[in-house]
Amino acid sequence: GTEKHFFDDRQEATNGLLHWNERHLLAATSGKVAGGTLCRVLASVCTDSRQLRPGDIFVALKGEAFDGHQYIEAAAEQRAGAIVAEWMPPRMRPEVLYIEVKDSLRALGDLAAYRRRLLNGTIKVAAITGSSGKTTVKEMVASIFAEALQGSRTGMDAVLKTRGNFNNLVGLPLSLLPLEAGHRLAVVEMGMNVPGEIARLVAIADPDIGCINNVHPAHLQGLGSLAGVAAAKGELFAGMRPEAVRVVNLDDPHVRAQAKKFAGEQIGFAVTPSGRKFGPQVRATRPDNLGEQGMRFTLHIEGWRARVTVPVFGAHNVSNCVAAAAIAHAAGIGPEVIAQGLQRYAPSVDKRLAVTELPGGLKVVNDAYNANPASMAAGLRTVAAFGHRGCRHLAALGDMLELGAASEDLHAGIGALVASLGYDFLALTGMQATVMARAASAAGMKEENIRVFANPRAMADWIYPMLARGDLAAGDWLLIKGSRGMRMEQLLDELEQRL
Ligand code: ATP
Ligand code: MG
Repeated sequence: GTEKHFFDDRQEATNGLLHWNERHLLAATSGKVAGGTLCRVLASVCTDSRQLRPGDIFVALKGEAFDGHQYIEAAAEQRAGAIVAEWMPPRMRPEVLYIEVKDSLRALGDLAAYRRRLLNGTIKVAAITGSSGKTTVKEMVASIFAEALQGSRTGMDAVLKTRGNFNNLVGLPLSLLPLEAGHRLAVVEMGMNVPGEIARLVAIADPDIGCINNVHPAHLQGLGSLAGVAAAKGELFAGMRPEAVRVVNLDDPHVRAQAKKFAGEQIGFAVTPSGRKFGPQVRATRPDNLGEQGMRFTLHIEGWRARVTVPVFGAHNVSNCVAAAAIAHAAGIGPEVIAQGLQRYAPSVDKRLAVTELPGGLKVVNDAYNANPASMAAGLRTVAAFGHRGCRHLAALGDMLELGAASEDLHAGIGALVASLGYDFLALTGMQATVMARAASAAGMKEENIRVFANPRAMADWIYPMLARGDLAAGDWLLIKGSRGMRMEQLLDELEQRL
């Protein structure tokens, strides 16, 4: 029969390019063949018919705004090799394999889990969750992993990392599915909005190393309270195999509490004196803020130590560096390589702390990518430390969304922080703008220097004339930040248009 053409899965995994076949698809998804046949060499898994290439496996997902089942015919027309879906079109093509599953989102995760299991023992997977810094730590770990594998034949190609911010039930599987036989190290981030999501992501990725970076008030709407957030992040530690290594932020009492429940191997990291009391294997001391040049600190890994400079801004990023170092240490990478990998880390130039200079010299930190109270405070502190003595700082802030009942208090806290950090001007927009304005003024900021606007673009009506008058000039700093939904980057667009 055909049996002899099938290799043992593990051999396929280690002897060359991995590929999917009908048996894999059925075994992975527990689906059944609803029609057609497999006639093409199967390529990648794809959920967007516009990006589909011949031979791809099209998984029809139901989203909020779209339903992939409407594109099954389009996928077949573009010569998909197989279609995985919850229901089938009235007409099926004979040259496409149609597989019916109960839940196509689940099937997508199952396909990724299957591919990851094929590489059991040949690859180490590290996973990071937490309220803030997941993408940053992930990129730092990838930089260290690449450094560690530099000498190997496959080099960079031996490292797989989450694409961008692909950290949810769709993104994580899509990040893992490109896993190939040549990969040796992988690093993924795991995000969540509701309890149970991390547990599922852990089941898919089966991490050898798992890190809870921190627990902050974010997504409180879905999770109820900080304790709810902590419990949801704790699903990472709970879902890991007993022999896997848990990487623990000893500065964060919520993370410590989650870690206490487990007996297996743990690697702790800390940057604060109170966290250091718990005996971290990896830690940072003597942080030195070099402003626009980045952060310098002494990195300690067990008994080893060295002074390192990393091109990142703000004290919170020293914690991220040490988290990445602890993950790499857990993976067995030596301290010299870890330090080198961190120093070579290149912050991505998207909306995360991207610094631009406007015509006329005003420096803008565009951190409009996202915001929660911890990241808002971190961004404000970071930018307050930028610039020469006596330069002016302006904060243009939008609401932090999804904070539930605690929202007002948390926004008031941010307003007070802006004042205490000595910001000269404060531009606000959103439902909580007046709450922040009142708190900033109560904390001592001059009322004429605080303004509330209907939207981010309208802020330019105040800021542009300040630039024209010289109230803001070369060497001054503007921080733009708010939740993604506030679209705060529109302020920068508007200023760039006018200047
Ligand atoms: P998301 O949930 O959107 O994927 P994330 O967890 O991946 O976010 P990053 O994208 O790395 O986080 O960072 C987002 C912002 O959070 C940064 O711009 C920074 O202001 C802030 N931040 C990053 N790390 C920390 C940290 N360790 N503590 C507090 N704030 C942080
Ligand atoms: Mg992220």
